[in-house]
Amino acid sequence: MSAVSAVVPIAIIWFRNDLRLADNPALNAAVKWAEKNNGIVLPVFILDPVIDPQLGGATRWWLEKSLARLDAALSKTAEMNEKALHLFKSDAPTVFDQLQANYRIGAVFWNRLYDKASIARDTDIKSSLRDADIECDSFNGQLLYEPWEIKTGAGTDFKVFTPFWRACQKLPPPVAPNKAPKSIPLGDLKLAREIDLAALDLSPKPFDWAAGFGKRFVPGEQGALDQLHSFIDDRLDDYAYLRDRPDHLVTSELSPHLRFGEISPRQVWHAANHYADAHPGKGKTASKFMAELGWREFSHHVLFHAKDLKSVPLQGKFANFPWIDDPNALKHWQRGQTGFPIVDAGMRELWHTGYMHNRVRMIVGSILVKHLLTDWRNGLAWFDDTLVDACPANNAFSWQWIGGCGADASPYFRIFNPVLQGEKFDPDGHYVRQWVPELADMPTRYIHKPWDAPALALKAAGVDLGRTYPKPLIDLKQGRERALNAFQEMKRAAG
Ligand code: FAD
Repeated sequence: MSAVSAVVPIAIIWFRNDLRLADNPALNAAVKWAEKNNGIVLPVFILDPVIDPQLGGATRWWLEKSLARLDAALSKTAEMNEKALHLFKSDAPTVFDQLQANYRIGAVFWNRLYDKASIARDTDIKSSLRDADIECDSFNGQLLYEPWEIKTGAGTDFKVFTPFWRACQKLPPPVAPNKAPKSIPLGDLKLAREIDLAALDLSPKPFDWAAGFGKRFVPGEQGALDQLHSFIDDRLDDYAYLRDRPDHLVTSELSPHLRFGEISPRQVWHAANHYADAHPGKGKTASKFMAELGWREFSHHVLFHAKDLKSVPLQGKFANFPWIDDPNALKHWQRGQTGFPIVDAGMRELWHTGYMHNRVRMIVGSILVKHLLTDWRNGLAWFDDTLVDACPANNAFSWQWIGGCGADASPYFRIFNPVLQGEKFDPDGHYVRQWVPELADMPTRYIHKPWDAPALALKAAGVDLGRTYPKPLIDLKQGRERALNAFQEMKRAAG
């Protein structure tokens, strides 16, 4: 660590969705540049209100913790006590203009983002830095493959997952991840207009509704690595055949760590690949897991190529779908008060932990979009605000998939029955009992359909339907028929 004057050459590492030191190509480039030019590395994070206004409450909670841990890790590498990460809350071009005006910025490096707004902003910043003779480069720190590298035989982007993932697998395997730099030459700069973490104003308001998140997750790079190792050591073995069961802890729960880049997909992919090499006969479970990373790649591929994944249905015929605007139904769904136990369990798990199991995401999505005929964009907005892993690619892609209007989406007329789904994937009702405690004493036979239970069974379980637990918000058969009719109406209108 050195006291820095305005003439020391500086390489900026602009952290975004890559809040880690290991396998971070932009950070490595900055360190290399600083060593070569006798300069220092300046780690910067910018909360850009132009790009980040959609950052939801749960992701803001995560980001605050993750930035604190990144700052501590950077300081430790440079053996300094001061803060190492410089924080700004402003539009990014203005921050770079100010830094250029006051310091000898020689280079700026970052890892790429793939949504349209970020790409446009980053392209402008890159060209204005280069115009000012500042070295500027961007890298792939977020994906196994760049979205534009994967093409169909006709040279176009993919619309279907299986051939997409097959095409990825034909490419050379993802390069091995790099270790964190041994040391980072940081300076003790205090920059004009930088702010401290509290001033980023990321904490939940008006009260700490996110208190439960920290019981489930440890944000930050070390938390991500610990999570990966415990998954590989204890759970990957069972992944292929238990991954759909919300009543078992089997999946990796790496999604928020991947969302913020506290771990790279290359690190995750190579850990699973290593497991497959070391455990002959276990290749199937490892490939199933790696294929889920493939879905993440696919959703980024689709995000990159789509006009506006968040708002515009990929299948044009859905543009005028006859959605019903029912704020009351939406509110019951958001609060886990639909009267369908597996749905309510999922929505409450989400509220309390910032996370929901993938199978349950599909079930709650289906009931909202199909039985309740609510526009998928309402579900997307709620997940964006409440999921700790809410991400512009995976969330928008998945809601379009649920809505039947996305890429490789299951057809709209395939409608999940929440009772059958519950009985299949939570057969003993453990998951429901955990998150819907008012049903804890229901006999297993009725746990997913309490309205069918005889009065005596309800009484014995302390359940008074409509009072201690809601009656179903909609008749499942009628809801299904209404959804199918709406679909037919849309098809007729689209010709
Ligand atoms: P694992 O099963 O351990 O999978 C490993 C990793 O692969 C995940 O961490 C994730 O990065 C990726 N992955 C797994 N399944 C999918 C999938 N179906 N699509 C894309 N990537 C996948 N995932 C998000 O990361 N952010 C979101 O905002 C998000 N919103 C969703 C909304 C809906 C309606 C649905 C149905 C799914 C959504 N998903 C989202 C996908 C999936 O539910 C989560 O990635 C998964 O549940 C995370 O748990 P995990 O880390 O234990 O997954």
